Amino acid sequence: MIYLKSESEIDKMREAAQLVSRTLAEVAKILEPGVETGRLDRVAEDFIKKHGATPAFKGYGGKRNPFPASLCISVNEEVVHGIPGKRVLKDGDVVSIDCGVELNGYFGDHAYTFVAGETDDETMRLLKTTLESLYLGIEQATHGNKTGDIGAAVQTHCETSGFGVVRDLVGHGIGKRMHEDPSVPNYGRPGKGERLRTGMALAIEPMITAGTWKVRTLNDGWTIVTADGSTAAHFEHDIVIREGKAEILSTFDYIAEITKNEKLLTSYG
Ligand code: MG
Ligand code: MG
Repeated sequence: MIYLKSESEIDKMREAAQLVSRTLAEVAKILEPGVETGRLDRVAEDFIKKHGATPAFKGYGGKRNPFPASLCISVNEEVVHGIPGKRVLKDGDVVSIDCGVELNGYFGDHAYTFVAGETDDETMRLLKTTLESLYLGIEQATHGNKTGDIGAAVQTHCETSGFGVVRDLVGHGIGKRMHEDPSVPNYGRPGKGERLRTGMALAIEPMITAGTWKVRTLNDGWTIVTADGSTAAHFEHDIVIREGKAEILSTFDYIAEITKNEKLLTSYG
């Protein structure tokens, strides 16, 4: 069931998404070699609560194995759903930070991949390509197009650059629930899939690897890693479908003010 959002709902969703954007920037301020991932999580959780919102990931998944933190922090070969804790970031670590909040009944869910310190050119190419693919996907997210148009744009850009496109995890609708219909795969064929309509809100989130597209889950029941141990990148925006260009509800602008990493500041034209 796909829920189309009214303008007043979109206003609330924008506020939730923007709070996630600002939370990611708070984390960016202290993300460097030597910091514990658990500290990043505590900073994010405090910031979210201070702004009257609820961390959406904490407790997610139900009683059997609830996610224990406010951020997913996924380092190097970890793709998504990494659990923050005592791990200390090292120079060159590739750090995907995914954050979700619920604010006034609506969810925001978006992610950025940072580098702790500096890394090599090939890893930067992976991050840049993944970020570019996110914006290429968003360009296809217009009224009348299909989810396959988004997936094909992401897949083509990443695979022609020599990277792997994760199949097992996908983007999704978002709204009063963090995960709504439709699924938004990062692969597909133009003209196939669910038809996009004005008022649909989507989280688009390419998960791209330097090697295989295959992934597996660690024994913690959460952390997804690449099957071949290759490095992964993950960027996510929340958007709403409009007649022309989609509106991006979240933003990396606050991160840009902090990181000054010009190589990774591709913006939406
Ligand atoms: Mg998501
Ligand atoms: Mg996310």
